[in-house]
Amino acid sequence: VVVIGAGFGGIATVRALRDAPLEVTLVDQNNYHLFQPLLYQVGTALLDPSEIAYPVRAIVRRLRNCDFLLGRVISIDLDQHTLHTTAGDLPYDRLVVAAGAVTDSFGKPGVLTHAFGLKNLGDAITLRNHLLTTVEHAAATKDPTERRRLLTVAVAGGGATGVECAGAVCELVGLVLRRDFPHLDLSAFSVLLIEAGSSVLTQFAPSLQRHAIRALERKGIKLRFGAKVDDVTEQGVVLQGGEHIPAATVIWAVGVRGSDAGGLLAPQRARLGRIPVDAGMRIPDHPEVFVIGDLAAATVDGKPLPMLGAVAQQQGAHVAATITAEAGAGSPPPPFRYHDRGTMATIGRNAAVAQIGPIRAWGFPGWVIWLAVHLVLLISFRNRVVVLINWARDYLFYDRPVRLITAPTPHAGDNGSPHGDPAHPD
Ligand SMILES: Cc1cc2nc3c(=O)[nH]c(=O)nc-3n(C[C@H](O)[C@H](O)[C@H](O)COP(=O)(O)OP(=O)(O)OC[C@H]3O[C@@H](n4cnc5c(N)ncnc54)[C@H](O)[C@@H]3O)c2cc1C
Repeated sequence: VVVIGAGFGGIATVRALRDAPLEVTLVDQNNYHLFQPLLYQVGTALLDPSEIAYPVRAIVRRLRNCDFLLGRVISIDLDQHTLHTTAGDLPYDRLVVAAGAVTDSFGKPGVLTHAFGLKNLGDAITLRNHLLTTVEHAAATKDPTERRRLLTVAVAGGGATGVECAGAVCELVGLVLRRDFPHLDLSAFSVLLIEAGSSVLTQFAPSLQRHAIRALERKGIKLRFGAKVDDVTEQGVVLQGGEHIPAATVIWAVGVRGSDAGGLLAPQRARLGRIPVDAGMRIPDHPEVFVIGDLAAATVDGKPLPMLGAVAQQQGAHVAATITAEAGAGSPPPPFRYHDRGTMATIGRNAAVAQIGPIRAWGFPGWVIWLAVHLVLLISFRNRVVVLINWARDYLFYDRPVRLITAPTPHAGDNGSPHGDPAHPD
C-alpha cells in the first residue's frame, strides 16, 4: 500500500493500517506532519515552526509495517500501478492519495507575487518575517503616509483562516510590538478584513457569526463586507470597482484548491479542483486507487464534505478498513458516514466561537474550548507542553518569543520577498 501525503488523512490511514498484514509506504515532499490549524500562530510570531510540525519518521517508527519515503510525487501511472517520485519509482497494489490542497489565487497574478498565503510552513515563516520587517520600517520612516501603508494589514477572506489571522495580527502589533516600539505612533496601525459576502464565518450559526463580528470590531478590526479583491499590487489591494487600499501586507485567505498531485489522476476535476470519488473514496475505473481529505470531492447524502482535518482523518480510517478487509484480515466497514464533532474559530484572546452539535459557545467559554481542543489535537506530548507554555506567556505577559526575522528582508516600500515556500511553489 502506498499512501501519498503525511497530513491529517495520510497519517490516519497508516495508523489504522498498523496491524494489517501489509507493506505500507508513506510518501511526502516534506519530512514532517504539519498541524495547519495553528499555522497563523507561526505567521504572527506566537509559535515556533517546530511546535506545529512533527517529524514523520517519529510517527512511522512506531508502526511495524510502515516505511517513509521523502520525495515529491511527479506523476502516477494508473495502468502500470506505479508512482513516479523525485526519489524514484514506487509500485503499488493499493494507492491512497491524501495530497491535500494549495492556496488558490483565483487567477489573479498579483496574489502570487504580492500577497501572503497561509497553507504551508514556508508561507507562515515568510509572513512572520514580513510583518516584523514592516513594523521595523514603519519605525524608521519619516513619511507619515508611508508609515500608515506599512502599518496597514489587509486580510482577504472572512472564513476561519481570515478571521483568526486578522485577530492574531491585531494582537501581535497592538499588544506585543507596542512595547518593543514605544516611540512608534500606532494610531497609524490598522487591520482590514475584506469579505465578498455579508458576514464572516458563514459555516457557523448566524448568532455565532454576529458574536464573531462584534469581537472583531471590539479589537478594532475594520470590516468591509460586499467587497471583492480584484488584484494585489506592490502598494496594496485593488477592489473591484477600482478602489485602491494602500497596505504593505495583504494576507490571502480566500480559498484553496486540490493540489496538483491529484490533478495528474483525473483530467476532470470537480469544484475547487477536487477529485470526484465514489462512496468508498475510489476513483472511477480504478478501484485500487482511493482519494481522501481536501483533495477528494466526496459527498454524503448529496452534500459535499468540507475541507476539514476531521473529514480527512475519518476517511483515512475508513479506507484503511476497506484495504485491510480486501487483504482478508477483517470485515468490510459499513458505508462511510462523517461524524461532525464540531467547528470552532478564535478571534484572539478571550474570544472564540464554537459549535458542537446543539452547543453554541462564544467569548471566554468558546475560547477555553478552542484552546483545549487544539491542545489535545496536537500530535506529541512535547508539542502540547511547549505550546501551552507559549500561550500562557503570551496571555499573561503579552510576550511572543519568536519575534525573529530569519530571512533577508526587502527594503522599505518593497512588498515582495519570494513569497511562500520556494521548494514547493504550489
Ligand atoms: C490555516 C488553516 C487553518 C485550518 N484550520 C482548521 C481547523 O481549525 N479545523 C479543521 O478541521 N481543519 C482546519 N484546516 C483544514 C485542514 O488543515 C485540512 O482539511 C487538512 O489538513 C486536510 O488533510 P489532508 O490529509 O487532505 O491534507 P494535508 O493535511 O494538507 O496533507 C497533505 C500532504 O500531502 C503532501 N503532498 C502534497 N502534494 C504532494 C506531492 N506531489 N508529493 C508528495 N507529497 C505531497 C503535503 O506535503 C502534505 O503533507 C485548516 C487549514 C488551514 C490552511
